[in-house]
This record gives sequence, C-alpha cells and structure tokens, in this order.
Amino acid sequence: MTFKGLNLSMSDTLFSKIINREIPADIVYEDDLCLAFRDVNPQAPVHILVIPKKPITKIADATETDQSVLGHLLLKASDIAKEQGVGDAFRLVFNNGTGAGQTVFHLHLHILAGREFSWPPG
Ligand code: AMP
Repeated sequence: MTFKGLNLSMSDTLFSKIINREIPADIVYEDDLCLAFRDVNPQAPVHILVIPKKPITKIADATETDQSVLGHLLLKASDIAKEQGVGDAFRLVFNNGTGAGQTVFHLHLHILAGREFSWPPG
C-alpha cells in the first residue's frame, strides 16, 4: 500500500500514525477501542472520523471477532455527533474499497453534520 509515494504496511497507515501520535490530529474522543478526530478536508461543518485502534483494513475485511468493536464505533459516533450540538441530524458513512471512494485503508466511520444532505449520495 502506498501513501504519497511511501510504502506503508497495514500496521503503518496514516491513521495508525495518528493513533500512535506520530502525526498530529484534532482529536475529539479516545478510549481503549477507538479514536475520533476531525477530518483534515471537511465535507460538512462537522466532519469527524471514528476509527478502531485495531487496524482493520475495511468493513468488508471485518470478521465476527470485530462485532463488538464495530458496535462500539456506531454507539460512540452517535454520542460524538450529539456532543457537536447537531441534534439527531447527522450522517454516518463507511466508504468500502477504492471504487466506493475509500482512500485510507484503516477502517473509519465518517460523521457528517451541520448542513443539508441529499439522497442518493453522490
Ligand atoms: P475515505 O475517502 O473514506 O477513505 O476517507 C479518508 C478521509 O481521511 C478523507 O475524508 C480525508 O480527508 C481524511 N484524512 C486524510 N488524512 C487525514 C489526516 N491526516 N487527518 C485527518 N483526516 C485525514
């Protein structure tokens, strides 16, 4: 896997580097299982990524052993969205695979809020 010309192993993705504090991020929440930080290129007034600390590549690669951490991501995303003061108007998105727009291969849940959203998404 490459990022900006660098060869990265699975344990060495951009988001693993954020978990390990090797590169900076605007962190809004952390616990033993997950980390949440503001997206560097926000697509809405609120755009936060929630990631598992376990380096799962993408949702399609998750297994039954990941069931509780995936549920944890969803519940924490809901709590974090509420803390942003957007009420119940927020969108949660997993992009899975390059064809669906995934660019960082460490699973992440986008929280988007603070503007109108259309359906279907583009
Ligand atoms: P995706 O396209 O679903 O893989 O989403 C990856 C997201 O990571 C994009 O929305 C990027 O803007 C975001 N991103 C990339 N690098 C960083 C970074 N260093 N800090 C915060 N967000 C980032």
